[in-house]
Amino acid sequence: IHYDGFTEEESQELRRAGVVVSTLEQIKGWARSNSLWPMTFGLACCAIEMMGAGASHYDLDRFGIIFRASPRQSDVMIVAGTVTKKMAPLLRRLYDQMPDPKWVIAMGSCATAGGPYVRSYSVVKGVDQIVPVDVYIPGCPPSPPALIYGLNKLQEKIRMEAAGKRVSS
Ligand code: SF4
Repeated sequence: IHYDGFTEEESQELRRAGVVVSTLEQIKGWARSNSLWPMTFGLACCAIEMMGAGASHYDLDRFGIIFRASPRQSDVMIVAGTVTKKMAPLLRRLYDQMPDPKWVIAMGSCATAGGPYVRSYSVVKGVDQIVPVDVYIPGCPPSPPALIYGLNKLQEKIRMEAAGKRVSS
């Protein structure tokens, strides 16, 4: 690690002394990334895998990821399932009710691009037409480990953005 604002020798000295230099934004990013609260919100079959990820075997709690039953208490929306055109305005309303900062994960091929229903008149071809998406997880359905991987990527993204680095979805 090379600490910003320090010479290489000073950075080495600080490392030897066990000193960690950070900014308030980086500390906030670290704290936020380790206490994600997704909203309890499922739309179709992918939601069963999301529930599996939260149950005892995969145990999302160990990452500080704890589901909340209200958008007012949530900072992550996991769109797990098929988004119908009828559901789209409600999904947007729930997103608007979440406080900032907030993030969205598109879980599975339906949420990402319409999935097997891509030709249906009633299905939205990707939830990113309604809300901004931070992480896309492929699969039909993605397994619980795939969701955990996606959540870990989101944690990484939050920490990198807090450090002032640009990250794409
Ligand atoms: Fe169901 Fe597959 Fe769509 Fe997930 S991606 S909601 S498993 S049809």
